[in-house]
Amino acid sequence: MSELKLSFATRGYEFTPYVQANNWIGGAWKPASTGATQNVINPRHGKSMGKVVDSGAADVAEAYAAAKAALPEWKALPIRERAQVLYKVKELMEANLEELSWLLSHENGKTIGQARGEVLKGIECVEMGASLQNMADGGQLDVSRGVNCKVIHEAVGVVAGIVPFNFPTMVPLWMLPQALVAGNTFILKPSEKVPYGAMRLAEIFKEAGLPDGVLNIVNGGKEAVEAIIDHDGIGAVAFVGSTPIAKLLYARGAETGKKVLGLGGAKNHLVVVPDASPEVTSANVVASYTGCAGQRCMAASVLLAVGNVDHILDDVAEKSRALVVGQDIGAVVSKESRDRIVRYIDEAEAAGATILVDGRGAKVEGSEGYWVGPTIIDGCTPDMACVREEIFGPVLSVIRVDTLDKALDIENASPFGNAACIYTTSGAVAERAINRFEAGMCGVNIGVPVPREPFAFGGWNDSKFGHGDMTGMDGFRFWTRPRKVTVKWELQSDETWMS
Ligand code: NAD
Repeated sequence: MSELKLSFATRGYEFTPYVQANNWIGGAWKPASTGATQNVINPRHGKSMGKVVDSGAADVAEAYAAAKAALPEWKALPIRERAQVLYKVKELMEANLEELSWLLSHENGKTIGQARGEVLKGIECVEMGASLQNMADGGQLDVSRGVNCKVIHEAVGVVAGIVPFNFPTMVPLWMLPQALVAGNTFILKPSEKVPYGAMRLAEIFKEAGLPDGVLNIVNGGKEAVEAIIDHDGIGAVAFVGSTPIAKLLYARGAETGKKVLGLGGAKNHLVVVPDASPEVTSANVVASYTGCAGQRCMAASVLLAVGNVDHILDDVAEKSRALVVGQDIGAVVSKESRDRIVRYIDEAEAAGATILVDGRGAKVEGSEGYWVGPTIIDGCTPDMACVREEIFGPVLSVIRVDTLDKALDIENASPFGNAACIYTTSGAVAERAINRFEAGMCGVNIGVPVPREPFAFGGWNDSKFGHGDMTGMDGFRFWTRPRKVTVKWELQSDETWMS
C-alpha cells in the first residue's frame, strides 16, 4: 500500500495525510538533496497537514538523469502500448475518486463537490490521452509523380511541467497523458502549496504500469523551477500559473532553445444585457465567480451590466448571500491570499464603490481556516485595482454602462485575455460580442467557458505566452516534433525479374 493511501486508511478521510511530500525519482520517493522542507497548510483548518521538500538544481539533475535513462525504452514502445497505461490510470482514478477528492479538498481548500469535479475533469484528460493512439495521424500525400511526403510526430524527449496550486490534480493531467503517450519522459514540478495530489498521481501511474523514470516529480519552488527552465537537456516546458512567471519563463526558456507554453493569469469579464434570461444568468454568474472560491483562471471577475439589468443583479446578490461559507464555498489557499482579497475590497470601498455583498470577516465555526464569503462590489470604475488586477478570490466587480459597445471597450482594454462571456437571448447580440471579445475562450450564457476535450484550452494576450494551446490536439503537437519525410522510389529498369 502506498504511503498516502496507508495514511488515509489509518487516519480516515477527515484527517490529513501527514506524510512528507518527497521527490519521485526513478519510481521511488526520496528527500531533496537540500535537506530543506516547508509546511503544507490545510486552508480549511489553517494547520499543517505535512511537509514538502524544497528541491534545488541537484534534484532536478537527478530527475533528469532518471528521465533520460527511461526515454529510449519508453519511446520505442508502440503508441498503443503506451496508451494502455492510461486506460489503467483512468480505472484507478475512478476506483479512488473519493480519496483523491478528499485529498484535494484538504490541501487546496475547495469543497468536496468541486474537488470531485476536478478529478472527473482530470479523468477526461486521461481519456483524451488514451484516444490519441487513434487520432495521432500525421498525414501523408503523393505530392508529385512518385514522390510522397508524410509527417511523423516524434517525442521531444525529456520534458517538464510546472503547475499552480488551484487544480493540483487536473492541471498535471492537462499535460501528462499527452506528453507520455507521445513517448516523452516527464519531470513534474507541483505547487509547493499542494503537493499531495501529484504525489498520489505518481503512485497511480506506477500502479497502472508506467515504467520507473518515465514520470518524475521534483517538489519545491523558485529554485527548482529555475533549474528546470535553464536545463539544456529538457526540450519542452509547459507552465500554468500567474502571468509574471509565465512571461519570465517563456523568455528564459528560449535561451536554451526550449519549446515553452506558459498559461498565465486572468481577469474574466461577463457582459449582461437587458434581454438576458434572468434565471439562467443569475445562477450562472454566481457559480462562475464563487466556484472554487474564485480561484479559477476561468472565474468571472468583472460584470459589465448593460442598461437596466437591476432585476438580474438583485438576484445575483440574493443567491450570493444564500451561499454557506465552508459548505457551498471553500477556503482560499492561504492567509496571504485572504488578506490580499480583503485588501482589494477595502480599497474599492475607500475609492467610493458600494459593497453590495460583503464576504469580509467570514468564519466557519471551529475552524481557523482562510475564509472569504461571496463579495459583490457595485459602482466600480475601469481604473480601480479590483477591475484591472487579478484578485483570485470570490469577488465580483460590477461596472454599469449604457451600451454593449462600451462594455466591449472595457473588456478589450484588459491586458489579460483568458475568458469572456455574454448573457443574452439574442443570437445576433451574442455574435457581436463574441466577434469583439479580446479573449481566447468565449462563452454565451456560460460563465466558465472551458473548452472540453478534444478542444484545446488557452487564452490570449497576457493570459498565454507561446504558440498553440494546452490540451486537445494542440497539446499533442506541443509535446511532439514533426518529422517531415519525403520519399521517392524509382524502379530500376534493368531488373530482369521485374517483368
Ligand atoms: P504562481 O505563478 O505563483 O505559481 C505557479 C508555479 O510557479 C508554482 O509551481 C510555483 O512554485 C512556481 N513559482 C512561483 N513563483 C516563482 C518564481 N518567482 N520563479 C519561478 N517559479 C515560481 O501561481 P499560483 O498562485 O500557484 O496559481 C494561481 C495563478 O495561476 C493565477 O494567476 C491563475 O490565473 C493562474 N492559472 C492560470 C491558468 C490558465 O490556464 N491560464 C490555470 C490555472 C491557474
